[in-house]
Amino acid sequence: MPHAIRVPPRPGEPAYEAFERLAARLGDADGDRLARSLGIDRKALRHGVGVDRVGELLGLEARSLTDATFVREARGMRLGGFVVPFRGWAPSKRVCIPCLVQDSNGDDDAATLWKYRRTWWDLRAVDRCERHGCALLDACPGCGSPLAWRDRPPRLCSSCGHDLLAASGASAPDAGWEAYLVGRLGFGPARPAAILDAMPLTDALSCVLAVGETLSPRSASRSSPQVDRARATLGFGLVGDGGRALRAGLLGLEPPSPHLDGRRLRRLLDPLLGWLEAHPGDATGPIRDALLSHVRSAWVVSRELPLLGETLAPVVQEHRLALGRRLGLDPTILDRLLRHAGLAAAGERECSAEEFARLRDAVEASVSVPEARRILDLDTRTLSALAGMDILPRVPWAEGEATRGRFVRSALERLAASLRYDVPTVGRRTADHMTFDDASRALRRGSRHHDRARAIRHLLSDRIRPCARLDRGQGPTTLLFDRRTIEVLQDADMQPPDL
Ligand SMILES: [Zn+2]
Ligand SMILES: [Zn+2]
Repeated sequence: MPHAIRVPPRPGEPAYEAFERLAARLGDADGDRLARSLGIDRKALRHGVGVDRVGELLGLEARSLTDATFVREARGMRLGGFVVPFRGWAPSKRVCIPCLVQDSNGDDDAATLWKYRRTWWDLRAVDRCERHGCALLDACPGCGSPLAWRDRPPRLCSSCGHDLLAASGASAPDAGWEAYLVGRLGFGPARPAAILDAMPLTDALSCVLAVGETLSPRSASRSSPQVDRARATLGFGLVGDGGRALRAGLLGLEPPSPHLDGRRLRRLLDPLLGWLEAHPGDATGPIRDALLSHVRSAWVVSRELPLLGETLAPVVQEHRLALGRRLGLDPTILDRLLRHAGLAAAGERECSAEEFARLRDAVEASVSVPEARRILDLDTRTLSALAGMDILPRVPWAEGEATRGRFVRSALERLAASLRYDVPTVGRRTADHMTFDDASRALRRGSRHHDRARAIRHLLSDRIRPCARLDRGQGPTTLLFDRRTIEVLQDADMQPPDL
């Protein structure tokens, strides 16, 4: 028989919570009496057993209860089409204090009826409230007591009076993962995430966890809920944007050795690699491509190796040589260019006209080491002053390079590429012009090399801009600056600060 007092289920409220809420409404604080009198097994209810019957007994809408209740199955907990492995689900006591405060419409004692737990707070990969962006709490950060929010206003700790609303912390910009998950579960607005939207939510969850685990610091311990949440957030950040961030993240991984073999590959790229193998298909294509492109650019393939449905082979030389001749590049630079243009496979077959045009453009826009040295024309001490300023990030290993060589290559190439100026060339300077060295001196006092290095940093960050360059010579020292602009900077004491 339906129970006399009805408590309509709220959006996202699991059946076990609707039951507890009703019990509290009836003055049965721990729910034991109500469960006994109705013959309800609360432990089973937590696992989604008997939801329909509970709905019937309590006069609740069975449909909305089932929509929000995880049900125990052989493989894990299921909610509609979404299955979470058992270890990813735990009806913890975590709650969002701002949500509860809003539910109860302020700190009103009589509002016990409306505060409720959301079903996604039970997911271990959820760390924050998708609406408020603040942390979910399961204990008072002030005294550590469990939160007694059900029978009293949720805002203040019942033991020490700590303001839990303030203790939940500020809204974080990284609650994007939680918002996405809740949207996919149908309890919030849909947030698009290109790669993940193409997969079932079950796969999307395991995907962000696998990406997060592969790219998080190795020292992280294996299985605490905090680690799960951090991994999900990291993984979502890397695949949520369509794959660009993932490519950059993979680029930052340093292979344990430049030479590729299956064992080393696993050590570096599992569990993402394992996940991809278990999830073939179109939806995972962008992730697969990002991983393959990382492997091609960071490792030396010395013998054939099957990977994710492709065979990585030592470079097929003929096409590559022909392509190199057409573009006027030596093989090392060509390889780097192909990877840069995302056309690693083009070197193994005939290039299409469109691909060739892209490569041409890339050649136009890039520089090689000798060219970089020529473009920069800087003395060694200025270069080492630049290195000391940490202006340039490290780049992945390339075949045959020593560590020091790698740094020099990246520094030179990036610097030269950044300092290509689209400014008119002039035959001689006028009184309005200031040379690079004059400008460096005007802006800073120090050794000549450090002045130059600092001026280059300001150039890179666009704080100063050249107005012309001399038509003889190479490098930043041929740049000319507008005298008045530099003097204004100098006089106004608006010297660009050191970073
Ligand atoms: Zn909230
Ligand atoms: Zn407290």
